[in-house]
Amino acid sequence: MLVYLDNSSTTKQYDEVTELMYKISKETFGNPSSLHSLGLAAEKEVKNARDEISKALGVKGEELFFTSCGTEADNTAIFGTVEAKKRRGNKIIVSKVEHPAVLEPAKKLEEQGYKVSYIGVDDKCHLNLDELRSEIDEDTILISVMSVNNETGTIMPIDKIVDMRENRDIIIHTDLVQGFGKIDLNLNSKFKGVDLVSLSAHKIHGPKGMGALYVRKGSNIKPFILGGGQESHFRSGTENVQGIAGFGLASKMANDNFEDRIAKMSKAREYLLHGIESEIKDIRINSPLDDTACPSVLNISFLGTRGEVLLHTLEQDGIFISTGSACSSNHASQKGSHVLNAMGLKPKEIEGAIRFSFSEFNTIEEMDYTLDKLVKAVSRFRKLGTFR
Ligand code: PLP
Repeated sequence: MLVYLDNSSTTKQYDEVTELMYKISKETFGNPSSLHSLGLAAEKEVKNARDEISKALGVKGEELFFTSCGTEADNTAIFGTVEAKKRRGNKIIVSKVEHPAVLEPAKKLEEQGYKVSYIGVDDKCHLNLDELRSEIDEDTILISVMSVNNETGTIMPIDKIVDMRENRDIIIHTDLVQGFGKIDLNLNSKFKGVDLVSLSAHKIHGPKGMGALYVRKGSNIKPFILGGGQESHFRSGTENVQGIAGFGLASKMANDNFEDRIAKMSKAREYLLHGIESEIKDIRINSPLDDTACPSVLNISFLGTRGEVLLHTLEQDGIFISTGSACSSNHASQKGSHVLNAMGLKPKEIEGAIRFSFSEFNTIEEMDYTLDKLVKAVSRFRKLGTFR
Protein backbone atom coordinates (compact mmCIF):
# COMPACT_ATOMS: atom_id res chain seq x y z
CA MET A 1 0.00 0.00 0.00
CA LEU A 2 1.21 3.54 -0.78
CA VAL A 3 0.14 6.10 1.81
CA TYR A 4 1.05 9.67 0.98
CA LEU A 5 1.00 11.81 4.12
CA ASP A 6 3.32 14.58 2.99
CA ASN A 7 0.72 16.86 1.41
CA SER A 8 2.11 20.02 3.02
CA SER A 9 5.31 19.46 1.04
CA THR A 10 3.40 18.96 -2.15
CA THR A 11 0.25 17.25 -3.41
CA LYS A 12 -0.45 14.81 -6.20
CA GLN A 13 -1.71 16.76 -9.19
CA TYR A 14 -5.40 16.21 -10.05
CA ASP A 15 -5.69 14.07 -13.21
CA GLU A 16 -8.04 16.69 -14.66
CA VAL A 17 -5.31 19.32 -14.19
CA THR A 18 -2.71 17.14 -15.89
CA GLU A 19 -5.06 16.53 -18.82
CA LEU A 20 -5.87 20.21 -19.21
CA MET A 21 -2.19 21.19 -19.09
CA TYR A 22 -1.32 18.56 -21.67
CA LYS A 23 -4.07 19.77 -23.97
CA ILE A 24 -3.01 23.40 -23.63
CA SER A 25 0.67 22.54 -24.18
CA LYS A 26 -0.27 20.78 -27.41
CA GLU A 27 -2.96 23.07 -28.74
CA THR A 28 -2.88 26.48 -27.10
CA PHE A 29 0.79 27.17 -27.46
CA GLY A 30 0.57 30.82 -28.49
CA ASN A 31 2.12 33.63 -26.51
CA PRO A 32 -0.65 35.48 -24.63
CA SER A 33 0.98 38.77 -25.71
CA SER A 34 0.68 37.91 -29.43
CA LEU A 35 -2.06 39.73 -31.30
CA HIS A 36 -3.14 36.79 -33.49
CA SER A 37 -5.79 34.21 -32.65
CA LEU A 38 -3.35 31.69 -31.11
CA GLY A 39 -2.18 34.41 -28.76
CA LEU A 40 -5.74 35.38 -27.92
CA ALA A 41 -6.62 31.75 -27.17
CA ALA A 42 -3.71 31.55 -24.73
CA GLU A 43 -4.70 34.86 -23.16
CA LYS A 44 -8.21 33.51 -22.67
CA GLU A 45 -6.85 30.55 -20.68
CA VAL A 46 -4.93 32.96 -18.45
CA LYS A 47 -8.03 35.09 -17.95
CA ASN A 48 -10.20 32.07 -17.07
CA ALA A 49 -7.70 30.96 -14.44
CA ARG A 50 -7.40 34.46 -13.01
CA ASP A 51 -11.22 34.68 -12.75
CA GLU A 52 -11.41 31.28 -11.05
CA ILE A 53 -8.78 32.02 -8.40
CA SER A 54 -9.94 35.55 -7.71
CA LYS A 55 -13.50 34.20 -7.29
CA ALA A 56 -12.22 31.78 -4.63
CA LEU A 57 -10.57 34.70 -2.81
CA GLY A 58 -13.54 37.04 -3.26
CA VAL A 59 -11.39 39.63 -5.08
CA LYS A 60 -11.22 41.26 -8.51
CA GLY A 61 -9.24 39.53 -11.28
CA GLU A 62 -7.13 42.64 -11.81
CA GLU A 63 -5.83 42.29 -8.25
CA LEU A 64 -4.27 38.87 -8.87
CA PHE A 65 -0.81 38.44 -10.39
CA PHE A 66 0.68 35.11 -11.40
CA THR A 67 4.19 34.26 -10.22
CA SER A 68 6.53 31.31 -10.68
CA CYS A 69 5.86 29.93 -7.16
CA GLY A 70 4.81 30.82 -3.64
CA THR A 71 8.39 31.79 -2.84
CA GLU A 72 8.36 34.43 -5.57
CA ALA A 73 5.00 35.73 -4.32
CA ASP A 74 6.45 36.12 -0.80
CA ASN A 75 9.63 37.79 -2.09
CA THR A 76 7.58 40.17 -4.24
CA ALA A 77 5.33 41.07 -1.31
CA ILE A 78 8.27 41.91 0.92
CA PHE A 79 10.72 43.58 -1.45
CA GLY A 80 7.89 45.27 -3.39
CA THR A 81 6.50 46.82 -0.21
CA VAL A 82 9.87 47.97 1.05
CA GLU A 83 10.69 49.52 -2.32
CA ALA A 84 7.39 51.42 -2.31
CA LYS A 85 7.51 52.54 1.32
CA LYS A 86 11.21 53.02 2.05
CA ARG A 87 10.84 56.76 2.46
CA ARG A 88 8.07 56.36 4.99
CA GLY A 89 9.72 53.91 7.38
CA ASN A 90 12.34 51.23 7.81
CA LYS A 91 10.80 48.58 10.01
CA ILE A 92 9.09 45.32 9.14
CA ILE A 93 7.47 42.77 11.43
CA VAL A 94 7.33 39.03 10.73
CA SER A 95 6.71 35.99 12.90
CA LYS A 96 9.54 33.69 13.97
CA VAL A 97 7.77 30.74 12.36
CA GLU A 98 7.42 32.02 8.80
CA HIS A 99 8.55 29.92 5.88
CA PRO A 100 12.11 30.69 4.67
CA ALA A 101 10.47 32.38 1.66
CA VAL A 102 9.64 35.20 4.12
CA LEU A 103 12.43 34.81 6.69
CA GLU A 104 15.27 34.95 4.17
CA PRO A 105 14.07 38.20 2.53
CA ALA A 106 13.61 39.61 6.05
CA LYS A 107 17.18 38.63 6.90
CA LYS A 108 18.44 40.24 3.71
CA LEU A 109 16.66 43.49 4.59
CA GLU A 110 18.16 43.37 8.07
CA GLU A 111 21.62 43.13 6.49
CA GLN A 112 20.73 46.22 4.44
CA GLY A 113 19.95 48.19 7.58
CA TYR A 114 16.19 47.68 7.98
CA LYS A 115 14.81 46.96 11.43
CA VAL A 116 13.12 43.57 11.57
CA SER A 117 11.06 42.34 14.53
CA TYR A 118 10.54 38.61 14.81
CA ILE A 119 7.39 37.84 16.83
CA GLY A 120 7.33 34.72 18.97
CA VAL A 121 4.73 31.97 19.38
CA ASP A 122 3.48 29.75 22.21
CA ASP A 123 3.92 25.98 22.53
CA LYS A 124 1.17 25.32 19.95
CA CYS A 125 2.57 27.91 17.55
CA HIS A 126 -0.03 30.60 18.34
CA LEU A 127 1.30 34.09 17.63
CA ASN A 128 2.07 36.33 20.60
CA LEU A 129 -0.34 39.16 19.76
CA ASP A 130 0.75 41.36 22.67
CA GLU A 131 4.33 41.24 21.47
CA LEU A 132 3.17 42.11 17.96
CA ARG A 133 1.09 45.03 19.26
CA SER A 134 4.04 46.43 21.20
CA GLU A 135 6.32 46.24 18.13
CA ILE A 136 4.09 48.33 15.85
CA ASP A 137 5.45 51.87 15.69
CA GLU A 138 5.64 54.83 13.29
CA ASP A 139 8.50 53.28 11.34
CA THR A 140 6.57 50.08 10.62
CA ILE A 141 5.74 49.67 6.94
CA LEU A 142 4.95 45.95 6.68
CA ILE A 143 3.58 43.14 8.82
CA SER A 144 3.93 39.67 7.30
CA VAL A 145 2.39 36.71 9.13
CA MET A 146 1.45 33.41 7.53
CA SER A 147 -2.20 32.24 7.65
CA VAL A 148 -1.38 28.62 8.43
CA ASN A 149 1.96 27.32 9.69
CA ASN A 150 3.37 24.64 7.42
CA GLU A 151 4.86 22.51 10.21
CA THR A 152 2.08 22.51 12.82
CA GLY A 153 -1.02 23.60 10.87
CA THR A 154 -1.71 26.38 13.39
CA ILE A 155 -4.14 28.95 11.96
CA MET A 156 -2.91 32.48 12.68
CA PRO A 157 -5.28 35.33 13.75
CA ILE A 158 -4.91 37.46 10.61
CA ASP A 159 -8.15 39.36 11.36
CA LYS A 160 -6.76 40.49 14.72
CA ILE A 161 -3.55 41.68 13.06
CA VAL A 162 -5.63 43.75 10.62
CA ASP A 163 -7.51 45.30 13.59
CA MET A 164 -4.21 46.21 15.26
CA ARG A 165 -3.13 48.28 12.29
CA GLU A 166 -5.90 50.82 13.05
CA ASN A 167 -5.50 53.76 10.64
CA ARG A 168 -1.76 53.46 10.16
CA ASP A 169 -0.17 53.24 6.73
CA ILE A 170 1.09 49.66 7.14
CA ILE A 171 0.89 46.95 4.49
CA ILE A 172 -0.36 43.59 5.77
CA HIS A 173 0.83 40.51 3.95
CA THR A 174 -0.15 36.93 4.62
CA ASP A 175 1.42 33.81 3.18
CA LEU A 176 -1.67 31.71 2.46
CA VAL A 177 0.28 28.91 0.77
CA GLN A 178 -0.80 26.28 3.33
CA GLY A 179 -4.25 27.74 3.94
CA PHE A 180 -5.59 28.11 0.40
CA GLY A 181 -8.38 25.57 -0.13
CA LYS A 182 -8.23 24.54 3.53
CA ILE A 183 -9.53 27.47 5.58
CA ASP A 184 -12.11 30.22 5.07
CA LEU A 185 -10.10 32.75 3.14
CA ASN A 186 -12.61 35.13 1.66
CA LEU A 187 -10.99 38.54 1.49
CA ASN A 188 -14.37 40.16 2.06
CA SER A 189 -14.96 38.44 5.40
CA LYS A 190 -12.29 36.82 7.58
CA PHE A 191 -9.38 38.25 5.59
CA LYS A 192 -10.88 41.70 5.06
CA GLY A 193 -8.25 44.44 5.11
CA VAL A 194 -5.32 42.23 4.13
CA ASP A 195 -3.29 43.93 1.37
CA LEU A 196 -1.15 41.11 -0.01
CA VAL A 197 -1.75 37.35 -0.13
CA SER A 198 0.66 34.69 -1.44
CA LEU A 199 -0.57 31.46 -3.03
CA SER A 200 1.04 28.34 -4.46
CA ALA A 201 -0.61 25.86 -6.82
CA HIS A 202 1.16 22.66 -5.85
CA LYS A 203 -0.34 22.53 -2.36
CA ILE A 204 -3.86 22.16 -3.83
CA HIS A 205 -3.20 19.44 -6.41
CA GLY A 206 -2.13 21.98 -9.02
CA PRO A 207 1.21 22.14 -10.85
CA LYS A 208 4.55 22.79 -9.19
CA GLY A 209 6.28 26.03 -10.07
CA MET A 210 3.09 28.15 -10.08
CA GLY A 211 2.07 30.81 -7.62
CA ALA A 212 0.17 34.06 -7.37
CA LEU A 213 0.13 37.23 -5.35
CA TYR A 214 -3.06 39.11 -4.55
CA VAL A 215 -2.34 42.83 -4.37
CA ARG A 216 -5.22 44.92 -3.02
CA LYS A 217 -6.02 47.74 -5.42
CA GLY A 218 -4.39 50.91 -4.15
CA SER A 219 -1.58 49.16 -2.24
CA ASN A 220 0.83 50.45 -4.91
CA ILE A 221 3.66 48.05 -4.14
CA LYS A 222 6.48 47.91 -6.68
CA PRO A 223 7.17 45.06 -9.12
CA PHE A 224 9.99 42.68 -8.24
CA ILE A 225 10.70 41.24 -11.71
CA LEU A 226 11.11 43.75 -14.52
CA GLY A 227 10.95 43.11 -18.24
CA GLY A 228 8.36 43.00 -21.00
CA GLY A 229 5.51 44.30 -18.87
CA GLN A 230 3.31 41.20 -18.65
CA GLU A 231 0.76 40.90 -15.82
CA SER A 232 -0.09 44.62 -16.11
CA HIS A 233 3.58 45.53 -15.68
CA PHE A 234 3.63 43.95 -12.23
CA ARG A 235 5.32 40.65 -13.09
CA SER A 236 7.21 40.50 -16.34
CA GLY A 237 8.03 37.27 -18.14
CA THR A 238 6.03 35.25 -20.66
CA GLU A 239 3.15 33.63 -18.82
CA ASN A 240 3.30 29.91 -18.00
CA VAL A 241 -0.04 29.38 -19.73
CA GLN A 242 -0.48 25.68 -19.02
CA GLY A 243 0.68 26.16 -15.42
CA ILE A 244 -1.69 29.06 -14.90
CA ALA A 245 -4.60 27.11 -16.42
CA GLY A 246 -3.73 24.12 -14.22
CA PHE A 247 -3.68 26.37 -11.17
CA GLY A 248 -7.08 27.80 -12.13
CA LEU A 249 -8.65 24.37 -12.49
CA ALA A 250 -7.09 23.09 -9.25
CA SER A 251 -8.45 26.15 -7.47
CA LYS A 252 -11.92 25.55 -8.90
CA MET A 253 -11.88 21.87 -7.93
CA ALA A 254 -10.55 22.62 -4.44
CA ASN A 255 -13.06 25.35 -3.74
CA ASP A 256 -16.12 23.77 -5.37
CA ASN A 257 -15.64 20.70 -3.15
CA PHE A 258 -14.37 22.63 -0.15
CA GLU A 259 -16.65 21.14 2.54
CA ASP A 260 -16.25 17.60 1.31
CA ARG A 261 -12.46 17.84 1.06
CA ILE A 262 -12.14 19.36 4.53
CA ALA A 263 -14.38 16.65 5.98
CA LYS A 264 -12.21 13.92 4.46
CA MET A 265 -8.94 15.48 5.70
CA SER A 266 -10.38 16.06 9.17
CA LYS A 267 -11.64 12.50 9.40
CA ALA A 268 -8.24 11.03 8.50
CA ARG A 269 -6.44 13.40 10.89
CA GLU A 270 -8.80 12.71 13.80
CA TYR A 271 -8.65 8.97 13.26
CA LEU A 272 -4.86 8.84 13.15
CA LEU A 273 -4.56 11.18 16.13
CA HIS A 274 -6.87 9.07 18.31
CA GLY A 275 -5.10 5.90 17.26
CA ILE A 276 -1.71 7.34 18.15
CA GLU A 277 -2.96 8.73 21.47
CA SER A 278 -4.40 5.39 22.49
CA GLU A 279 -1.59 3.15 21.27
CA ILE A 280 1.64 5.11 21.74
CA LYS A 281 2.87 6.52 25.05
CA ASP A 282 5.34 9.38 25.58
CA ILE A 283 4.27 11.63 22.78
CA ARG A 284 3.89 15.38 22.54
CA ILE A 285 1.22 16.72 20.21
CA ASN A 286 2.70 19.83 18.65
CA SER A 287 -0.32 20.88 16.56
CA PRO A 288 -3.28 22.60 18.17
CA LEU A 289 -6.38 20.46 18.75
CA ASP A 290 -8.97 23.23 18.84
CA ASP A 291 -10.47 25.46 16.15
CA THR A 292 -7.03 26.96 15.44
CA ALA A 293 -5.98 23.66 13.85
CA CYS A 294 -5.90 23.36 10.07
CA PRO A 295 -7.26 19.90 9.13
CA SER A 296 -4.37 19.17 6.81
CA VAL A 297 -1.53 18.95 9.36
CA LEU A 298 -0.73 16.89 12.45
CA ASN A 299 2.68 17.26 14.10
CA ILE A 300 3.63 14.87 16.90
CA SER A 301 6.89 14.18 18.74
CA PHE A 302 7.58 10.55 19.58
CA LEU A 303 9.96 10.82 22.49
CA GLY A 304 12.90 8.46 22.49
CA THR A 305 12.96 8.23 18.70
CA ARG A 306 14.40 10.19 15.83
CA GLY A 307 11.91 11.56 13.32
CA GLU A 308 14.29 11.10 10.45
CA VAL A 309 14.82 7.43 11.21
CA LEU A 310 11.07 6.87 11.60
CA LEU A 311 10.57 8.58 8.25
CA HIS A 312 12.90 6.18 6.46
CA THR A 313 11.50 3.14 8.29
CA LEU A 314 7.93 3.99 7.33
CA GLU A 315 9.06 4.73 3.79
CA GLN A 316 10.03 1.06 3.50
CA ASP A 317 6.38 0.22 4.20
CA GLY A 318 5.22 2.67 1.51
CA ILE A 319 4.25 5.44 3.96
CA PHE A 320 5.51 8.93 3.12
CA ILE A 321 5.74 11.50 5.88
CA SER A 322 7.98 14.42 6.83
CA THR A 323 10.03 15.41 9.85
CA GLY A 324 8.76 18.96 9.43
CA SER A 325 12.28 20.25 9.52
CA ALA A 326 13.20 19.81 5.87
CA CYS A 327 13.39 23.58 5.31
CA SER A 328 15.64 24.18 8.27
CA SER A 329 18.01 21.44 7.19
CA ASN A 330 19.42 24.04 4.79
CA HIS A 331 20.15 26.36 7.69
CA ALA A 332 23.15 24.87 9.38
CA SER A 333 23.20 27.31 12.30
CA GLN A 334 20.06 25.89 13.87
CA LYS A 335 19.49 22.41 15.23
CA GLY A 336 16.21 21.09 13.87
CA SER A 337 13.08 22.93 12.92
CA HIS A 338 13.08 26.71 13.51
CA VAL A 339 9.33 26.45 14.14
CA LEU A 340 9.58 23.83 16.88
CA ASN A 341 12.51 25.75 18.36
CA ALA A 342 10.43 28.94 18.45
CA MET A 343 7.67 26.98 20.21
CA GLY A 344 10.15 26.20 22.98
CA LEU A 345 10.32 22.44 22.46
CA LYS A 346 13.16 20.54 24.10
CA PRO A 347 15.83 19.07 21.78
CA LYS A 348 14.55 15.50 22.28
CA GLU A 349 11.01 16.66 21.36
CA ILE A 350 12.31 18.31 18.23
CA GLU A 351 14.37 15.27 17.32
CA GLY A 352 11.38 12.93 17.52
CA ALA A 353 8.93 15.17 15.62
CA ILE A 354 6.95 13.88 12.66
CA ARG A 355 4.58 15.82 10.43
CA PHE A 356 1.65 13.94 8.92
CA SER A 357 -0.11 16.05 6.31
CA PHE A 358 -3.37 15.03 4.73
CA SER A 359 -5.36 15.44 1.54
CA GLU A 360 -8.85 14.48 0.46
CA PHE A 361 -7.42 11.26 -0.99
CA ASN A 362 -6.42 9.75 2.37
CA THR A 363 -8.67 6.97 3.65
CA ILE A 364 -9.37 5.32 7.02
CA GLU A 365 -7.89 2.10 5.68
CA GLU A 366 -4.64 3.98 5.04
CA MET A 367 -4.71 5.40 8.57
CA ASP A 368 -5.12 1.89 10.05
CA TYR A 369 -2.16 0.69 8.01
CA THR A 370 -0.06 3.72 9.01
CA LEU A 371 -0.91 3.30 12.68
CA ASP A 372 0.03 -0.36 12.65
CA LYS A 373 3.43 0.33 11.05
CA LEU A 374 4.07 3.39 13.21
CA VAL A 375 3.35 1.56 16.49
CA LYS A 376 5.82 -1.14 15.48
CA ALA A 377 8.51 1.31 14.34
CA VAL A 378 8.30 3.45 17.49
CA SER A 379 8.37 0.48 19.83
CA ARG A 380 11.31 -1.08 17.98
CA PHE A 381 13.39 2.08 18.33
CA ARG A 382 12.48 2.53 21.94
CA LYS A 383 13.47 -1.08 22.72
CA LEU A 384 16.84 -0.52 21.08
CA GLY A 385 17.23 2.54 23.29
CA THR A 386 19.74 4.08 20.89
CA PHE A 387 17.98 7.39 20.61
CA ARG A 388 17.27 8.21 24.24
N1 PLP B 1 5.14 29.42 2.20
C1 PLP B 1 4.79 28.31 2.86
C2 PLP B 1 4.05 28.43 4.15
C3 PLP B 1 5.10 27.05 2.34
O1 PLP B 1 4.76 25.96 3.01
C4 PLP B 1 5.80 26.99 1.11
C5 PLP B 1 6.20 25.68 0.55
O2 PLP B 1 6.36 24.72 1.23
C6 PLP B 1 6.14 28.18 0.46
C7 PLP B 1 5.80 29.38 1.03
C8 PLP B 1 6.88 28.17 -0.85
O3 PLP B 1 6.01 27.86 -1.91
P1 PLP B 1 6.64 27.30 -3.29
O4 PLP B 1 7.06 25.90 -3.02
O5 PLP B 1 5.52 27.40 -4.28
O6 PLP B 1 7.76 28.20 -3.63
